[in-house]
Amino acid sequence: MRVARPVRAMHALGLAYRAILQANGEDELLQAVCLALVESGAYTQAGIWYTDEGEPPSLHPMAQAGSQPDQVVSASRDGQLAIEAIRCGRPLVALPGGAGAVAECVFPLLVWGETLLGCLVLYSPEAGVFDQTETELLGDVADSLATRIQALRAHAVLAHKSDHLLLVQRALRTLSAGNRVLLRAQDEAQLLSEMCRSIVEVGGYCLAWVGYAIDDEEQSIRPMAIYGEHRDMLDGLRLTWGDNAYGQTPSGQAIRSGQASVRRHIATDPGLYFYREEAVRRGFAAISGFPLVVDGKPIGCLTIFAGEEAAFEDRELSVLGEMAEDLAFGIATARAREKHAEAERTIERMAYYDSLTELPNRASLKARLSEAIEAARQQHCSLALLMLNIDRFREINEVLGYHEGDNILIETAQRLQTLLGPGCMLARLAVDEFAVLMPMADAEQAMDMARQMAATFSEPFEPAGVRVEIRVSIGIALYPGHGEEPSQLILHADAAMYQAKRQRSDIALYSGSPESDNRRRLLLIAELRRAIEDNQLLLYCQPKADMRSGRICGAEALVRWQHPEHGLIPPDQFIPLAEQTGLINPLTYWVLNAAMRQCYDWRGAGLDIPLAVNLSARNLQDPRLLDRIAGLSATWGASPDSLQFELTESTLMDDPEGALDILQRIKQMGFRLYVDDYGTGYSSLSYLKRLPIDSLKIDKSFVMSMPEERDSYAIVRSTIEMSHNLNLEVVAEGAASQQIWAQLTALGADVGQGSYLSNPMPAEQFLGWHGGH
Ligand code: C2E
Ligand code: MG
Ligand code: MG
Repeated sequence: MRVARPVRAMHALGLAYRAILQANGEDELLQAVCLALVESGAYTQAGIWYTDEGEPPSLHPMAQAGSQPDQVVSASRDGQLAIEAIRCGRPLVALPGGAGAVAECVFPLLVWGETLLGCLVLYSPEAGVFDQTETELLGDVADSLATRIQALRAHAVLAHKSDHLLLVQRALRTLSAGNRVLLRAQDEAQLLSEMCRSIVEVGGYCLAWVGYAIDDEEQSIRPMAIYGEHRDMLDGLRLTWGDNAYGQTPSGQAIRSGQASVRRHIATDPGLYFYREEAVRRGFAAISGFPLVVDGKPIGCLTIFAGEEAAFEDRELSVLGEMAEDLAFGIATARAREKHAEAERTIERMAYYDSLTELPNRASLKARLSEAIEAARQQHCSLALLMLNIDRFREINEVLGYHEGDNILIETAQRLQTLLGPGCMLARLAVDEFAVLMPMADAEQAMDMARQMAATFSEPFEPAGVRVEIRVSIGIALYPGHGEEPSQLILHADAAMYQAKRQRSDIALYSGSPESDNRRRLLLIAELRRAIEDNQLLLYCQPKADMRSGRICGAEALVRWQHPEHGLIPPDQFIPLAEQTGLINPLTYWVLNAAMRQCYDWRGAGLDIPLAVNLSARNLQDPRLLDRIAGLSATWGASPDSLQFELTESTLMDDPEGALDILQRIKQMGFRLYVDDYGTGYSSLSYLKRLPIDSLKIDKSFVMSMPEERDSYAIVRSTIEMSHNLNLEVVAEGAASQQIWAQLTALGADVGQGSYLSNPMPAEQFLGWHGGH
């Protein structure tokens, strides 16, 4: 026994030193040393105790090994020996006093003889075990143990520090990857999903998602993009930014407070209880939520999950916060870009498509027609153009209302569409007028198609349950026999259609210009010429009001013809004729003179508002126009503020270069310029941008149908947006009801004109109306 004893002690020391060297963590170290000392068989029990602050110092157990833990517990209870050993800083031995008692030796754990960590306690049933040599040797083990504990602690602090450095570095990497995403993303959806992807792939975070705050009853958060291995994490979760039990997540808090929010202890955080199980199961340790602030308001949040509890310390958090700000900026930019693109798309659609039937419009037909003519010319074949008009559509509209009228037009488009063969094109040219282009067709094929078109209307329409019989008139013109230019063919198909109408036959093939037609036209032209000379024209005025203040800010000059037999004729019935014959020039000079005289009278009566005069394409081609304007201004002492000019889109597009030149000169004289009937013609945005215009007048067809037609509403809205982008004022004509007026105000239109304010009235009644308004 005496011989074996030192061998066992040496063995125990060897095992203990090995454990000290090999252990990687503090807890593991303590346990391994206790085990080593007991396993050797040299001691029955070993325990390690740490001291707590305080006087007298108290002890708490950290590790123990051995067969009789009770005794260790009892030793710790009174613990006097240990406390004394710690106090005096050296090993103390207690020898067994009675039967069954054991020897106990306490070694203080001191680092460099100074810093006290606790003590190592060993027991043995053999009284002579803790002799001086063995006690000294074991004292060295205790010192080495203390030193190793200290080294492990220092290492952990260092590792913690470098962990943070790594975390900040990865946040910085994420930020710069995020910047690349911002630059590259094509739209909002791509921006969000790429951002989440780069946070996970570049930053090494577990999961990233973006949610938008919805203003619904639940104040829910709608996930918009998510990336990470566990992207099913949000499935079935109740996501809300409301201030309730479910809304205490970093995401909810970030949206509510507009500040970043972090939770590092998912496993114990009460605010995350409904998240917890899933998050812990997937190895998530910390979450951060960042508000996405657009236009000063949090619109949603970016939420990031990390696997390290140490994640999202101050510096890392501020870098990620910066990234979230960049993302919000990217969202705002993408939205602005999308709005702009939508406006451009609408303009594009307006330029080439009819918004009601979604058919190509006159501009598209013209473009396709000239291509088809060119192809026919090269291939030496013919083509046909068919023009269809619904008889008495105006009456149908008046009886059934515009809404049902529109439905009939839509169904007409559908019925005609089903008849088209390959390569044919159906277009809508005017309210009740459709055209079919048949490339490569001859007269016989065109007649055949016309018959099918007429036959499709033998079936009555039943809008809103009312049976409506519809008759149509169809005119046909052929290339090359009836014309070799697009406009000529359109004109002649149109003439053939009127011929069919007059003859009350469904279909007519163009047959040269009928004498009777010419004679009637000649008569009307002569009458109009006389009407201008004899002053049978009347000046009407329709007021315009500033939509914000409600103040009357001007009026439009609109001409009427007081015919001795036919009574008051509206301008739609004679202006086109005047335009075709050149009579539009004397007519316009009559209106200009009347308008300036009117302004002169108004000024005398203390009313200083401008009158807007409509100009036609022919007016712009008249070399005397500018001199006339200057001369009349001088005669009536009119300043440029009292006169404005309106030109329709088609006027401008008739001769774009010429129009640009003359408009520039009118503008130099100081007059304001308006593009009239905007939306009905073809004008490219890039062309409009070049014109020196001040204002767009949205055509009344869109404005009047705004309350019922989503398309019209969208067109009005995007025209207003686009105009404001181009720094143009927007006038809405056809503001016929309080509802329309309110919608226009909400959309930000600048000026309104329409029957809600007043119908056009004889100019001399205007002052009285204005006074009473
Ligand atoms: P415009 O220049 O677009 O004039 C606006 C037309 O819309 C006017 O029709 C006006 O009465 C109508 N309008 C405005 N608001 C409403 C509304 O709320 N409800 C309804 N139902 N209509 C509304 P008007 O006076 O029949 O003139 C028709 C067109 O004739 C004018 O359209 C213009 O292109 C042409 N015109 C009239 N006077 C002249 C003129 O002196 N010279 C030229 N070149 N053209 C003129
Ligand atoms: Mg006008
Ligand atoms: Mg107009």
